[in-house]
Amino acid sequence: MPTSTFDYLNEELERLRKEGMYRLPTVWTSASGPWMETGGRKLLQLSSNNYLGFTGHPDIQAAAIEAINRYGAGSGSVRTITGTLDIHDELERELADFKGTEAALVFQSGFTTNQGALSSLLGPDELVISDELNHASIIDGIRLTKAARAIYPHKDMDRLEQLLKENGGRKRTFIVTDGVFSMDGDIAPLPAIVELAEAYGAYVYVDDAHASGVLGRNGKGSTDHFNLHGRVHVQVGTLSKAVGVVGGYVAGADVLKRFLVHKGRPFLFSTSHPPAVAAACLAAIRLLRKSQPLIDRLWDNATFFRTRLQEEGFDTGGSETPIIPVLIGQPDQTADFSRQLMEEGIYAQGIVYPTVAMDKGRVRCIVTAAHTKDDLSFAVEKIVAVGKRTGVLKG
Ligand code: PMP
Repeated sequence: MPTSTFDYLNEELERLRKEGMYRLPTVWTSASGPWMETGGRKLLQLSSNNYLGFTGHPDIQAAAIEAINRYGAGSGSVRTITGTLDIHDELERELADFKGTEAALVFQSGFTTNQGALSSLLGPDELVISDELNHASIIDGIRLTKAARAIYPHKDMDRLEQLLKENGGRKRTFIVTDGVFSMDGDIAPLPAIVELAEAYGAYVYVDDAHASGVLGRNGKGSTDHFNLHGRVHVQVGTLSKAVGVVGGYVAGADVLKRFLVHKGRPFLFSTSHPPAVAAACLAAIRLLRKSQPLIDRLWDNATFFRTRLQEEGFDTGGSETPIIPVLIGQPDQTADFSRQLMEEGIYAQGIVYPTVAMDKGRVRCIVTAAHTKDDLSFAVEKIVAVGKRTGVLKG
């Protein structure tokens, strides 16, 4: 094959490199946790979604090992053929009970949950109205459908109402929102969304990827946080962030589950989770039920860290949760800030265009319950040092 065959790909990659948008993953040689090793150095980890430190919890690890010993490494097939084990069912019953819904259905990831659920729930008879800052998996799920679509400016309830009024004659309308927005760390105005939905007869679909294990009693999510039980039609959660393993799920009515079993394409056409994953998730959800003190610690850490950064003069945007962005600016400035932090012993990833707007590049910090106050003070000290050196902090 001539080397020029992929010139067009190289050109695009070069463009990304020039604009500070080229990504190379950092390779870690230690377990996920507040301090992690790469290239023989220990760095303070401020980019992981391991909110409660569950990835390394001994009970969860033991459950995974036991499941491997009992069932082997893989499940062998998609769920509807031979890929459903009793622990897959048990996990779904546990999730439904935890969320207070009739049923739950697990997908291979949070991404495929949104993709599979939205692409099958929405068709030419539906209108979907989506917050402009919803996650990529929501955007992709909607793109796969023939539904009419409308985007409202971030959390703009007036615009949402206007779109509900205009409707366009579709039979059903779905309002789709993240529960916690992944790049800004702010919380969706779910009570207002639910009220509008009820006034206009729309369905509410909330993606609680960053609210699972974080918001609500014992981390039940944003529906519980706002006491909206029975008023949110589709609750999506992840098993890969606070739960510490991998996967996603839809919690809701039994009919919703049965429909998605028949129509959710990732569920139907991709092999189910390995037994170790299902068992680890089951152990993690059971643990979550007793984890309020750990969740309180997570929120205490988040408030401490955000307040300290604001006191030093940083802009943390609309953050209200353990996701705390430090706004920097253009992609190259942001990439440089993140690189300098790494030299100082802090791993906090730069998030740049196209994930966020061109001038809204940020170092996205994620605080966990496993961080100590000393860890977080160390991080603030280093962020301030880099802030002064780069001119992001004036004076
Ligand atoms: N939804 C949101 C809001 C997310 O932030 C993410 C993770 N980046 C996902 C869905 C996808 O979840 P997962 O990583 O489990 O595929």
